[in-house]
Amino acid sequence: MAREDAGPDDRNAFTRFFDRVDRTLSPAFASPEMAPEDPDDRSQLGEKPCPVCGHPMFEHRVDESTSNVLLECPTDERLPERAATGPLNEFGMPAGEKRLEKIRRHEERYGG
Ligand SMILES: [Zn+2]
Repeated sequence: MAREDAGPDDRNAFTRFFDRVDRTLSPAFASPEMAPEDPDDRSQLGEKPCPVCGHPMFEHRVDESTSNVLLECPTDERLPERAATGPLNEFGMPAGEKRLEKIRRHEERYGG
């Protein structure tokens, strides 16, 4: 029996199946009503202080000429780095909550 002889019903079942899949999925793919972009978003971002120098972000120059986008601060001044007072993790960074918990447990067990 040739494949074409399978009858039109086969094809219709197939088509119906995909019609149903289509109907089921289309709400997911249909672009939902996009929330209107908050026009203030950009300006608020621009007024946020830079974490490096403390100047507003809009004063910065963004160098996108390379694949590494560079942010140029308008000043050479740098905010002082927050001194780490607590224990450090394996990377020399301030230890996270998990690590602190581990240290606490270790100290309880072995007496600091
Ligand atoms: Zn900066």
